[in-house]
Parts: sequence; structure tokens; C-alpha cells
Amino acid sequence: MTCPVLIVGGGPSGLSAAHALAAAGQRVVLVEKAEQLGGAPIQSGYAKLVPSGEWAKDAIGGMVRRVETDSRIEIRRRVTVKGFSGSPGDFRVTLSDGTVLEAGAAILCTGFTHFDSVNKPEWGFGTYPDVVTTTQVEQMLSSGRGVRRPSDGREPERVAILLCVGSRDRQIGREWCSKICCTVSANIAMEIREAVPRCNVYIYYMDIRTFGLYEDLYYWESQEKHRVKYIKARIAEVTSDGRRLIVKGEDTLVKRPISIPFDMVVHAIGMDPNVDNMTLSAVFDVKLQKHGHIQKASVYSNTSATSRPGVFVAGAATGPETIDDSIAQGQSAAMAALTLVRGAMMEAAE
Ligand SMILES: Cc1cc2nc3c(=O)[nH]c(=O)nc-3n(C[C@H](O)[C@H](O)[C@H](O)COP(=O)(O)OP(=O)(O)OC[C@H]3O[C@@H](n4cnc5c(N)ncnc54)[C@H](O)[C@@H]3O)c2cc1C
Ligand code: SF4
Repeated sequence: MTCPVLIVGGGPSGLSAAHALAAAGQRVVLVEKAEQLGGAPIQSGYAKLVPSGEWAKDAIGGMVRRVETDSRIEIRRRVTVKGFSGSPGDFRVTLSDGTVLEAGAAILCTGFTHFDSVNKPEWGFGTYPDVVTTTQVEQMLSSGRGVRRPSDGREPERVAILLCVGSRDRQIGREWCSKICCTVSANIAMEIREAVPRCNVYIYYMDIRTFGLYEDLYYWESQEKHRVKYIKARIAEVTSDGRRLIVKGEDTLVKRPISIPFDMVVHAIGMDPNVDNMTLSAVFDVKLQKHGHIQKASVYSNTSATSRPGVFVAGAATGPETIDDSIAQGQSAAMAALTLVRGAMMEAAE
């Protein structure tokens, strides 16, 4: 019998890796630091997902149930990995609760950390209660209570969504594009228009990156069907006149200063590297790339490999990723880990 494969992180990528391995008859130990499996879509209460339109609690919740009911998958919640030694096919894993396990290979599916908008204070988050984040609006929508201003519970009549908050911003050391937030914001804008039809929604952008087929489904559909308005602008600050929030900046198409009142302002927050990555790098002896994501050893030959043989990586741990790509990467890492542990078993049998 082969040693189990260790999977660290039970978000979309970890759930898909665990299911793929179990479906091939491989035992798995899934270590998750939170109480709940499901990663960001479940832990942060996302609403309808891009691009399927399915509720996160159904789509990702279904993946969680599939893993939780599989007898080949042992789930360890509220623990992290404190020690990892040995060689491919024969690793020794020490968990934070003191348990020691054997594993043939490991897959890091440890995801990302949401950008904390307090690091962009000039855009009003933390100062004005009606400046919120996309995750907060997702939670309002998924709770079924509709979209309401935190300050007074009123439905907003004018909402501004500010893109690239905590992404593409060299001043605060975040040079990457978070890849999905343009599309997620267009989706949220349409959902706000559906929930509160008299509400006008404006999206402030530097560039629109609704990549691939999302251009048609989200960028154009949000404008043509839902009357969402787009303003190309450089934002200076978000203030208040005591009654409404004021978004101040420059309209970069006509090169004029603009100052527009809103009832609610939404930060489209980006995807930071997981705050645990320095620790994960030390424990698993894997290299990080320059922004702090887990580095892939190869772009083409084995897309799941890290700098340490026998330790693989998948999903947003490697940089901003969508859910469907994270799931695909989880399956790919499962195949790489399975090849390794089955090879080690055959060698031992010879
Ligand atoms: C506001 C917002 C909305 C989004 N909406 C969509 C959408 O509609 N469609 C889409 O395709 N993508 C969307 N995304 C992107 C989506 O969140 C990611 O693609 C997805 O969560 C990546 O899955 P993952 O499993 O790689 O990582 P995560 O979802 O981050 O899961 C990682 C898991 O690992 C656990 N973990 C972390 N560190 C450790 C550790 N040290 N030890 C043990 N466990 C650990 C975490 O608790 C978590 O459960 C959105 C992103 C944002 C910011
Ligand atoms: S996807 Fe759009 S909002 Fe997100 S960082 Fe890239 S350009 Fe900005």
C-alpha cells in the first residue's frame, strides 16, 4: 500500500486534487487551517460565481461534500504543518497538534489572502462605513438581505465600484493584476442592478481586463443589458460631504478633474500572496517568486512542480487564479503526485 498524499489547503484547488487522487484509489490526508473547507468562496461567503452563475455555496459546497464523504480522504481541520522532512515517496510530516504522519508526496493548495483595504486609506475604507469591499457586497448578496448601506441600512441609489484596489499599484508594492476582479466587479454591478433596479452603478477603471470570453459576457452585457456605466479615471481620494461619499480624481479620457457623489463605494480588492507563504517556504523548503507566491519549477514540463522534488503546488498559491483554473491545476498536481507515489511503490516492490 502507498503512503497517503498530503494536501495542504481545502479550497477549490485542494478539494479537486483530493477528489482526483481518491477517485484513482489513492489515500489522502487533507490538512486545513480553518474550521471550514471550501477556501475563499465559502469562507468569505461569495455569492454567484463567475462564469457559471452558480451560487458558491452550491458549486463549491458540492465539492466539499464530495470530499467529506470519501473514506479515502482523511481531513484534519484547524491544523497546520510544522515539520516536513524526508525524500520523495517517503516524507515525514509533523502537524501543529503534534501528530506525525507519513506521506509519499505533498501538494500545496494554500491559496491567497484578500488585500486589506486599510492599506489604501486615502480611498476611504475604515474611515467611512459605506466604503466596503467586493467580499462584503458578495456577503450581502449571498445572505439574501439585498444590498444595503452599512451606516443606515438604506438601499443605495448610487454605487461606485473602484477597480484595482491592492493590485497594479507600485506605491504599495503590489505590481500584479489580480486577473478576476474586473469580471467579478462587472458581475457584482449587474447583481446590484438586479437587486436594486433604481440604483445607478458606476465602475471606475484604469483598464478593463475581462479576459477571454468574459469580454462579451460581462463587459458588454453589463453595459448594454444592465446599464452599468464605466468611467476611465485616476482616483485621488474618497471623502464625504457629511451626507454622501465623494469620489475625487481625474477623468483620464477627457483629462478633467471629477468629483462625483455616491451612497456607497465598493473596493474591488485584489489577491495578495498568502500571509503564510514565508512559513510554508521554510517548512517545505520551497522557493517563492519575487512577489511572495510559491514558485513553480517549470512552466511547461511539469506545471505542478515546486523547487523541491515531491512537493507540488496548485491554484492561487502560485499567483492570482480563477476557480476553474485552480481546479484544473489541482487535478494536474494530483496526477503528478500519483505518478510519484505509484512509481515509489513499484520500485519498493521490485
Ligand atoms: C472578491 C473575489 C471574488 C472572486 N470571485 C470569483 C469568481 O466568481 N469566480 C472565479 O473563478 N474566481 C473568483 N475569485 C478567485 C477565487 O477566490 C480563487 O480562484 C480561488 O479561491 C482559488 O482557490 P484555491 O483553492 O487555490 O485557494 P483558496 O480559495 O485561497 O483556498 C486555500 C485554502 O487553504 C487554506 N490554507 C491557507 N494557508 C494554510 C496553511 N498554512 N495550512 C493549512 N491550510 C491553509 C485556507 O484556509 C483555504 O481553505 C474571486 C476572488 C476574489 C478576491
Ligand atoms: S483584473 Fe481588473 S480590477 Fe483586477 S487588478 Fe486586473 S485590471 Fe485591476
